[in-house]
Amino acid sequence: MTSRITDKPPQFRSNHPLTLEKNSVPAPPESQSFHWHGFTQMADFQNIVIDRAEGCWLTTTSGKRLFDGVASLWCNVHGHRNPKMDAAIRAQLDRVSHITTLGMSADVTDQLAERLAEVTPGDLKHVFFSSDGSSAVEAALKMALQYWHLKNSSSTSAKTTKTRYLALSSAYHGDTTGAVSLGGIKYFHQLFAPIIFTPVRGPLPCSYRLPDGVQADNACDYYANEIESLLKQHHAELAAVVMEPLVQGAAGMITHPTGLLARIRELCDQYDVLLIVDEVATGFGRTGRMFACDHEGVTPDILCMGKGITGGYLPMAATIARPHVFEAFLGKSSERKQFYHGHTFGGNPLAAAAAVASLDLFRDTNLTETIDAKSQFLRECLAPIANHAHVGDVRGRGLMVGIELVADRESKTPFDADRMIGREICERATELGAWIRPLGDVIVLMPPLVASDEELRYLAETVTQAIEEVLADID
Ligand code: PLP
Repeated sequence: MTSRITDKPPQFRSNHPLTLEKNSVPAPPESQSFHWHGFTQMADFQNIVIDRAEGCWLTTTSGKRLFDGVASLWCNVHGHRNPKMDAAIRAQLDRVSHITTLGMSADVTDQLAERLAEVTPGDLKHVFFSSDGSSAVEAALKMALQYWHLKNSSSTSAKTTKTRYLALSSAYHGDTTGAVSLGGIKYFHQLFAPIIFTPVRGPLPCSYRLPDGVQADNACDYYANEIESLLKQHHAELAAVVMEPLVQGAAGMITHPTGLLARIRELCDQYDVLLIVDEVATGFGRTGRMFACDHEGVTPDILCMGKGITGGYLPMAATIARPHVFEAFLGKSSERKQFYHGHTFGGNPLAAAAAVASLDLFRDTNLTETIDAKSQFLRECLAPIANHAHVGDVRGRGLMVGIELVADRESKTPFDADRMIGREICERATELGAWIRPLGDVIVLMPPLVASDEELRYLAETVTQAIEEVLADID
């Protein structure tokens, strides 16, 4: 086994003097502080500057090639510089780059809305555009609240009692304030408690760490019963249940028991609460169906999408609603029932052109139908590392995979979080040629959906080597 981090290529070696003396605050060199990066400690940040990309590969300005193992933060679908995607955006550039969707639209955006209605589950039909996943969730929250307001009151001044939301533990729905309110991840969300609203908090339907006395075969019942007792207690004040379907990505690729989504759909109907499903991460083929809801035949009342909607090319997101939601907002202008929400760049024509081209590619290449086989192949390539003494779980759906590292496999005891094992492994994988980012000690693999078997094998082998090397010295 190779010793760890001995052969750092120069471009990844720390190239700025960090003052590491006790009590001193490290600072980045000034040239690296203009661009403030999200979820990144800037003091010891070592930038990787990308010059160009092609297919599943990124090339840095110093010429190093990296496999894009997290699909440019879970959104790239057809690869970088896909000729059809590029051509569609160029053609739209020659027509119009941006106009507002408040009161007008570009033909390509209208076309996209219709295409999204076709590919989303059931009778989801009415598309409200925004610019990122968090905003799609914000729109859904306000849509649900205004829906109950319009449905339960004859005049716009009367108030509905249905003003709260049920969210799952360790939920992640984005970084805007409403989305953070739903969120349940300690480091991302706790700090912002003074400025958020409090949801009714459901369980974390985790299949790896089951509560005492719960087995895989009754886990779905167990979590559904927990959610039912919350709905029983709170339904009169609940506008919606909001959830990531099947896999809670940012929580560490936490995988729900099969059938839970369908059970929650039934419970929402029974207790007269809307179901908002956040498919920002799971949508557009990622789990092996166009939408994760398709695995369980579920049609939510409102579905949020983002990331892969433009094939990962341009910022765009959407919130799609079923007719009964949309119709509650119809009336005379003087009734002021319109949805009081809108984004400057919602429905941007360049992004819409990319999204239509992406849907064409899905249709023409049958991409979604290839994902189950690719997922199976990736799992086979990961089988050797799955047996490692410090690998607790390899989980996920489709090409949405998490490898959880644990101090003790038997007891599933995590490593001390401050050891930053996941981060060290990802840094090593990057040195070896695959760009990946961890979620704590969960190594995330989310390649572009077009990745070939050869590329998936490369990703698995690179990550395997990084894990073996870094964990070789662990007691
Ligand atoms: N919802 C889910 C499930 C996500 O995974 C994310 C981002 O990772 C978001 C919402 C937020 O999307 P964005 O970063 O585009 O605002």
